[in-house]
Amino acid sequence: MASIDLKPASNFIRNIIAEDQETGKWDGRVQTRFPPEPNGYLHIGHAKSICINFGLAAEFKGRCNLRFDDTNPTKEEQEYVESIKADVRWLGFDWEDREFYASDYFDTLYAFAVDLIEKGKAYVDSLSAEEIRSYRGTLTEPGRESPYRNRTVAENRDLFERMRNGEFPAGECVLRAKIDMASPNLNMRDPVMYRILFASHHRTGDKWCIYPTYDFAHGQCDSIEGITHSICTLEFEDHRPLYDWFLDALEIHHPRQIEFARLNLTRTVLSKRKLIRLVEEGYVTGWDDPRMPTLSGLRRRGYTPQAIRNFCERIGVARRDSTVDMALLEYCLREDLNRTAPRVMAVLRPLKVVIENYPENHTEMLKAVNNPEDPGMGTRQVPFSREIYIERGDFMEDPPKKFFRLSPGREVRLRYAYFITCVGVVKDEKTGEVKEVRCTYDPATRGGDAPDGRKVKATLHWVSAPQAFDAKVRLYDYLLNETSEPDAGKDTPEFKERINPDSLTVLSGCKLEPGLAGALPENRYQFERLGYFFVDPVDSAPGAPVFNRTVTLRDTWAKIQKQSRG
Ligand code: ATP
Ligand code: MG
Repeated sequence: MASIDLKPASNFIRNIIAEDQETGKWDGRVQTRFPPEPNGYLHIGHAKSICINFGLAAEFKGRCNLRFDDTNPTKEEQEYVESIKADVRWLGFDWEDREFYASDYFDTLYAFAVDLIEKGKAYVDSLSAEEIRSYRGTLTEPGRESPYRNRTVAENRDLFERMRNGEFPAGECVLRAKIDMASPNLNMRDPVMYRILFASHHRTGDKWCIYPTYDFAHGQCDSIEGITHSICTLEFEDHRPLYDWFLDALEIHHPRQIEFARLNLTRTVLSKRKLIRLVEEGYVTGWDDPRMPTLSGLRRRGYTPQAIRNFCERIGVARRDSTVDMALLEYCLREDLNRTAPRVMAVLRPLKVVIENYPENHTEMLKAVNNPEDPGMGTRQVPFSREIYIERGDFMEDPPKKFFRLSPGREVRLRYAYFITCVGVVKDEKTGEVKEVRCTYDPATRGGDAPDGRKVKATLHWVSAPQAFDAKVRLYDYLLNETSEPDAGKDTPEFKERINPDSLTVLSGCKLEPGLAGALPENRYQFERLGYFFVDPVDSAPGAPVFNRTVTLRDTWAKIQKQSRG
């Protein structure tokens, strides 16, 4: 596990751009792009790429394009395009009028391909897909040249045009770059540039039946858009010679490709292929399930864009693969919410407390602070009465030594209210379960302090019973049992053994302070002692909010840092 300090980390790409600006390499221009394939929803790994591309462009007064890499019509959908745009906007970035699609350039890409044919640098191959694979060789053995490799320019031009016109069935032939079948880099062994695919495209419809491969499309799209720094993840490092080869062969504007390590996170998966399986096999309710590491899931969980951007700044940009602990992401979230979320009291698993010496049918209002971190957020009045709820876990009839909360004979403080002392319990006759706790209160401790200076070891949150507002609350745990993704990047046949069966707990009949009856979708709160909560925008109804726990208050990050420092 990488040990990460909480100050902004270094970023080697920033240094490269700064140097280019000094030498005037791109005439002072900085043009980046974020190039998602619209075949799934964006996840927190994409946020890293978005922050790098949009962030660096902003920092150097340059521009960042949003470009949909939509070269594979069989997997791409308009729903994904819309979700990607909403997510990038939500993170706080703006592509202005530069919303581009690789498919916008299909005509130009076709012309580039014809140019390479005319330069003798591309040919139509009639080997089958399987033959192409076996001719390709291995890491230790060179490939073999296709018998069709030496077709004439005229013949290639004619065949390619006929491919485009739909004269051949899928798989009959492909267009390949003519590079080097003996290259130690497999990507350079005459890579496929175009394949036949009779599929409707979400933007170009049935205009095309041949589609460019990622390798042929990507660099050329970068070039068309005048990209200066083409920033991508490490798995494209071996593709860089090919990226350069196409641009050199075409003699067009030549951006610099720079690779960085992709983000991996503990306790979750970050690959669209696996995320799709979680959705399709019903492990979650959808792409925006609050347990998902997708931006739409994190948003619905209650994450703030600021927290995610701070996280991306802190993890930095490096070329070495590493896995970041989820605890760091949660730390960044707490840090943001701590200052902004108003604090309220809510009891998730209620236990009734009756205060025997408090007058019946009486309610008084007590002053509570909305956020001790920010006095500007003011105070509010909460009702107090003879019957209140406390958290079941805050009472033990027969406590072990280290339990300092409420138990028979013990005095504790009720936050913003009074000291109370437990004088008895009422139990269910059949089950023996404690149904009610009987207490007395000390009227002299109003507001939560004893005039005689006596101390108590615990302060409990509570909600007055008659005014309590009932609501549904959802608690979340990590999706995976493993601490890290053991096979990051690889396909996993079985999720079953790895999935945490307790990733969702739904509690109903939670008792909330009455002010929360007015909670609106997307409101955020800190429930004192319990964590940060977010009003679910999908499942809440007017007057019936559903609260998602965004994160607990426990800072495991500090602990991990201490351990890793020894
Ligand atoms: P996945 O492996 O999840 O399917 P992808 O790389 O195929 O992701 P794209 O839509 O092609 O998804 O990604 C768009 C951009 O986001 C690319 O530049 C890609 O390198 C980057 N990206 C994807 N995943 C991560 C990650 N985990 N960390 C950082 N950047 C990422
Ligand atoms: Mg991809």
